[in-house]
Amino acid sequence: MPSYDSSLEEIKNRIDIVEMISEYISLKKAGHNWKGLCPCHSEKTPSFMVNPSKQIYRCFGCGNGGDIFTFVMQHENVEFKEALRILAKKAGVTLRMSRETAGRAGEKETILKINNQALTFFQQNLKKSPNAGAYLKKRGIGTEAQEHFSLGYAPKSWEDLKKHLEGKGVKTESLLKAGLVTKGDKGLYDKFRNRIIFPIFSLQGEVIAFGGRVMDSSEPKYLNSPETPLFNKGRVLYGFNLAKKHLKDTGNVLLMEGYLDVITAHSFGFRNAVAPLGTAFTSDQGKLIKRFTDNVVIVFDSDQAGVKAAKSASVVFFGSGLDVKVLFLPEKEDPDSFLKKNGKESFSVLLENPLSIIDFILRQKKDKRLIAREAIDIISNISDGILLDGYIKEISEKLRIKEVFIFVELRKLEQRPAPHDIDTGTA
Ligand SMILES: [Zn+2]
Repeated sequence: MPSYDSSLEEIKNRIDIVEMISEYISLKKAGHNWKGLCPCHSEKTPSFMVNPSKQIYRCFGCGNGGDIFTFVMQHENVEFKEALRILAKKAGVTLRMSRETAGRAGEKETILKINNQALTFFQQNLKKSPNAGAYLKKRGIGTEAQEHFSLGYAPKSWEDLKKHLEGKGVKTESLLKAGLVTKGDKGLYDKFRNRIIFPIFSLQGEVIAFGGRVMDSSEPKYLNSPETPLFNKGRVLYGFNLAKKHLKDTGNVLLMEGYLDVITAHSFGFRNAVAPLGTAFTSDQGKLIKRFTDNVVIVFDSDQAGVKAAKSASVVFFGSGLDVKVLFLPEKEDPDSFLKKNGKESFSVLLENPLSIIDFILRQKKDKRLIAREAIDIISNISDGILLDGYIKEISEKLRIKEVFIFVELRKLEQRPAPHDIDTGTA
């Protein structure tokens, strides 16, 4: 990328590699270099060296090495372009772009700025509203969790936020673009009113959208920001910005249904919990997970909608090269209610033995042939050959079907058009 060359040099000059890597791992001075425990492989004696004069790092244990850009790519799990954007921002370097790209970037920056102002507004309002505070406390979300997830409250008013932001010089047009106001017959009004606010963050922790939940039984229960240049709900998972650094340790991501499930799970120490933003699962979400881990455990309600959602999620995520297991909670429980009732230990026990997707399908009371077809249909989405082989064997053993017939069925399914992202129809 020739147009980036001078910017690259400037970013490298402005960022000290020792200081930057120290944000991720602790480094000690060793002669001219700095050393620490390698973040890429597990070790007890440090073999990870950072050379400040050359501005590079290298691990003598696993051979990993590079500069600030490769380090960010590896540790934030991002592509070069994104690493460049992150580091440019950190260094205060403006990247040279085409006018079109600059326009889009400018628009995103504007929305981000407004979102940050809105977030502060919502957070301050939560502190001022005894009702909202009491509601969260009743749901078991204490101050610590409220802060960890940057929760807020949108007051019961038609234009408090609008007036507040306009008072700060935000243009009406930008408010519309950010999706914070809605156009009605009588003009513009606040989209979120009398709702608990769940900010939605990008992987890098930027507030890109908001979700709002009512505190009573009114509808809709949840409301999300509309899609904006900054926010595409099919590309984000709620809580992923907080969960991402725990996925290496847990070896899997826990996919839950709602924001409250995620918050409760994190509070109980299950910091690998995330949730989709609405009803559809997308291959983009699958790809996002795949950058950090190979395994998804679906923890949905055991009601009919939950079962349907679990099947749809497994179809999409198998297609992204992930392995999918299902954790079944007792009747009428969701992760939030189960954890509060039974505690951390009971949930850990359940987590030790999630169901394979085949066992999950076998639980249904249906004709064996229908079950077999359904199982084969789901595994036909698996893109990883080794994984698929294991599932073919499992179906063969558990349903007593010769492998050759499973292959025949799979071949038939291969002829059909590729599946699209699937809407599960749950709320
Ligand atoms: Zn290493």
